[in-house]
Amino acid sequence: MTALKASKVLANKQDKHDSSVEHSDEGFTIEKFDLLNEIAQGIAAEFALSDDDLQILMTEFVAQLDDGLGTNDSAIEQLPSFITQVPNGTETGTYLAVDMGGTNIRVCAVTLKGDATYSLEQDKILIPSALMTANSPVVLFEWVAQAVKTFVERLYPDSEESDKDNNKLDPQRSFDLGFTFSHATQQDSVASGRLIRWSKGFNIDGAVGQDVCALLQQALTKLTLPIRVVALINDTVGTLLAQAYSSPHHMFTVAGAVFGTGTNCAYVETLSRITKLHLKTAQHHINMVLNTEWGNFDQYLKVLPDTIYDRAIDAGSVNPGFEMFEKRVSGMYLGELLRLAIVSVLDTPDVCLFPGARIPQTSSIFCQGSLDTSLMSHLERDVSADLVLSREKLEHWSGIRPINTEAVHAIRAMSHAIGKRSAQLSAVALGAVIVQSQCLNKQGEDGKDWIGIGVDGTLIELYPGFITEIRRSLRCLVDIGEAGESRIVISIAKDGSGVGAALAAHLIASAREEMYIAH
Ligand code: ADP
Ligand code: MG
Repeated sequence: MTALKASKVLANKQDKHDSSVEHSDEGFTIEKFDLLNEIAQGIAAEFALSDDDLQILMTEFVAQLDDGLGTNDSAIEQLPSFITQVPNGTETGTYLAVDMGGTNIRVCAVTLKGDATYSLEQDKILIPSALMTANSPVVLFEWVAQAVKTFVERLYPDSEESDKDNNKLDPQRSFDLGFTFSHATQQDSVASGRLIRWSKGFNIDGAVGQDVCALLQQALTKLTLPIRVVALINDTVGTLLAQAYSSPHHMFTVAGAVFGTGTNCAYVETLSRITKLHLKTAQHHINMVLNTEWGNFDQYLKVLPDTIYDRAIDAGSVNPGFEMFEKRVSGMYLGELLRLAIVSVLDTPDVCLFPGARIPQTSSIFCQGSLDTSLMSHLERDVSADLVLSREKLEHWSGIRPINTEAVHAIRAMSHAIGKRSAQLSAVALGAVIVQSQCLNKQGEDGKDWIGIGVDGTLIELYPGFITEIRRSLRCLVDIGEAGESRIVISIAKDGSGVGAALAAHLIASAREEMYIAH
């Protein structure tokens, strides 16, 4: 929101607030509570999706996934990862990994034990917001390389100690590193990828079109680190690989999906159906992992719900007109949707959301992006008497005191609706990927009856009931139904991006060894 608009809203609020103070001696009448409740329920209803809506959305989602197999300019890009093999749990070795998310980077050393388990050491560092909009990508990648240096020096100090533990890297040899990068890249091999566009609030000039693998390699080399960047994967591909590594043998891992700052999914597609690759021989038995980039589903809003809050989010974003699905689903936007809904209640004539309270001019309620989605998780989870915990959280966030129980209920109702819609849309997308991959039809093939989906991201991990709502919605989809849903296993692929990057590095390193032996 612009400063001008915010101050206008603020002025309105201050008027209303003053009048509510005048009336406060008379008490806050039942009619006023009813009106507040009615307004909040009305806003919540704008976010509601029926079972029919879900079916229509899924049909269109499958069509757009299919579109992406044939052309490079579809809404859902379906980017080839060049990974044609998924792990089976027997992989071994120790690899470095860098996972550049939308909020944090993680630098990891992963030891794959070959029995579907691993050990992992990691540093997690918040990406300074100034770097997300730096004036050159080199600045960002040099910062990442420095984080890798700090990590490696901490984990492998030049001491005898580090050699004793064979789980650890020998500091004398060069390290293979897998790089998980969660913005869209066009890959033409597993170890290179040109940035197509930034997402999740990143916007660095001069980066689009550059090979992010090479940028990281150059920054590491500049610090004279003996590290080779051997594989570049999207975080969703990492999640899929990590899930496949740790899955039981009777499970076919079909997808890896991320619900964090952004949302996206990778899944296993039949290579011969990816017609835009123009492969001469149709290889029906070979698969390739595709990075869907599903955040951009339905860019022109043919079927996606579109409230005034969604439109405001889009208008205030760094990429208006893009990533419309992501803007309705992911952690970066849900809190802001709720904030806009709260401001809208404040704006409603005759409704007083915060009777008897002063609204500070500097309240976060008027500040774009100030409401973190984690607050919605608190609201959803709260079972305290009179929602006292939620009230404290809301007062702390907004600086408005006191917030009464009725207002907390109203805000919670809107929050619940926004979270529920996000989970329903997530189910639609997962359902579409399951249908598109045809894995439900391959019942019992290779003894793999269960369909595995690895998921990652703080939203799906911590938002109460998110997976339960996804499952409920999957059952409503005609093409999935109760029978299909009962075969689907959704698991949090813990450390998915880091372990996945290590697995990708392993796949490349073993292919290299095989080539070496062959020659
Ligand atoms: P990244 O996308 O960088 O890998 P995460 O998976 O940690 O990062 O996701 C970060 C997003 O999760 C942020 O948008 C944040 O608002 C949201 N988030 C953080 N905590 C919670 C929570 N408790 N419940 C729901 N969302 C959360
Ligand atoms: Mg992540």
